[in-house]
Amino acid sequence: MEGYIFRNWAETFFCKPELYFEPQDTAELTQIVERARTEGKRVKVCGSRHSPSDIACTTGYMINMKHINKVLSVDVDKHQIRVEAGVLLEKLNTDILPRYGLALSLLGAISEQTIAGAISTGTHGTGYDHGIMATTIVSLELLTGSGEVLPCSDSENPDVFNAALCGLGALGIILTVTIQCEPAFRLHEIQTSTTLDDVLDNLDSNVESCEHFRFMWYPHTDMVMVSKVNRTEKRITERTSSWFWDKFVGYYALEFSFWVSEFVPSLVPWINRLYFLIFASLPKERVDIGHKVFNFDCLFKQHVTEWAIPRNKTGEVLRELRHHVDTGRFYAHLPTEVRFTKADDIMLSPASGRETCYINIIHFRPYGRTTWNKKYWAVYEDIVIRAGGRPHWAKEHPMRNKDLSELYPRWSKFCGLRKKLDPFGMFLNTYLERILSD
Ligand SMILES: Cc1cc2nc3c(=O)[nH]c(=O)nc-3n(C[C@H](O)[C@H](O)[C@H](O)COP(=O)(O)OP(=O)(O)OC[C@H]3O[C@@H](n4cnc5c(N)ncnc54)[C@H](O)[C@@H]3O)c2cc1C
Repeated sequence: MEGYIFRNWAETFFCKPELYFEPQDTAELTQIVERARTEGKRVKVCGSRHSPSDIACTTGYMINMKHINKVLSVDVDKHQIRVEAGVLLEKLNTDILPRYGLALSLLGAISEQTIAGAISTGTHGTGYDHGIMATTIVSLELLTGSGEVLPCSDSENPDVFNAALCGLGALGIILTVTIQCEPAFRLHEIQTSTTLDDVLDNLDSNVESCEHFRFMWYPHTDMVMVSKVNRTEKRITERTSSWFWDKFVGYYALEFSFWVSEFVPSLVPWINRLYFLIFASLPKERVDIGHKVFNFDCLFKQHVTEWAIPRNKTGEVLRELRHHVDTGRFYAHLPTEVRFTKADDIMLSPASGRETCYINIIHFRPYGRTTWNKKYWAVYEDIVIRAGGRPHWAKEHPMRNKDLSELYPRWSKFCGLRKKLDPFGMFLNTYLERILSD
């Protein structure tokens, strides 16, 4: 699990919890929060701690939700399940939901997160007619800074519900969630390759040509791998796996190549081209259980940043980024992942009020090397900020209160609710102070 994660400088200094707890149940959790309140300590609740930024860090009391993970009730007719907030998505996918013939409607690249961690940071998958994961939450219960448990839904405490759907862990502790699922399904994925211009020239028709559309651009090339995914009744296809290609070439040799390129950066375009040719240039097709198609291997340690831009800016942003990659004095690792969601009305959702395109860039850290492609990051951030980009809350970003208040029409409403629910700032940490202060 730790494998992917980049702990930044802030974590080095500020992510040393004074005390660490793994409560076995909600009663024990409530006692810990009570104790922190009387001692005037800060509390950070964490899920799988998969957030690449320091959003899940604290120097106060850290409470890991891993044991708060029970199934509370299932309504098979409505396809809804009520679970404790620390349940892992992968447990839902493989163990819990199949028992009831149900499945989550969408997922991001991995399922190692907790449901509360995923929704609190605006975790998303892809699909022009799908929202972020939080849009599948029907109700939740929130333990506030004053020790009160608030039931929240569209009909009970609707403002708190809306804010807590992407609450950054700032409003309190989510104890339970009810998730709107759907009958278990299989997905049919067709992968093809084409040029970046071809995808961008026909973006709307591409995005709306299937239920879950995404593409990976290979920087320093003009090529993209396109993935179109739809629900299907077709039978699961046999997987032909090859240790040599999948693991040796696709993982170990790639990591080694990027390690060598840390000393000879001009190798990066060649690596990207070669890996595009080997792994992405030929058409592929498969049918599998939903979560197996949604999730994919994110390989080894990496720096990562992802921004949400209005969908109609996708072409200009990617073309400008390509121009800088082609002409700038920096190198960009494969792949740049591009995904889409529909607009929602969640206060701090990066897709709030607009059809959204997410562009995720990475810089691998072969064998844990901590070099960081700062120039690439700066160029990318400049482009997306000019395009009205909103940062992924769980990933590295430089945004502050003033910037965010311009990007989110209900930013001050969220800040007001936070103060009301957590008057003594018990749930604050360095990350939240950074984005909430001017
Ligand atoms: C390899 C990798 C792939 C990823 N792929 C995607 C992707 O495809 N799409 C995407 O959008 N994101 C993606 N992410 C980001 C990931 O989904 C988020 O970082 C998510 O928050 C991680 O969940 P977690 O359980 O680890 O939460 P943590 O990192 O532990 O916590 C995140 C935040 O949630 C809060 N929180 C956790 N539990 C609770 C609770 N019970 N009540 C209140 N607040 C709570 C924490 O306080 C913290 O603020 C990826 C991350 C990695 C490392």
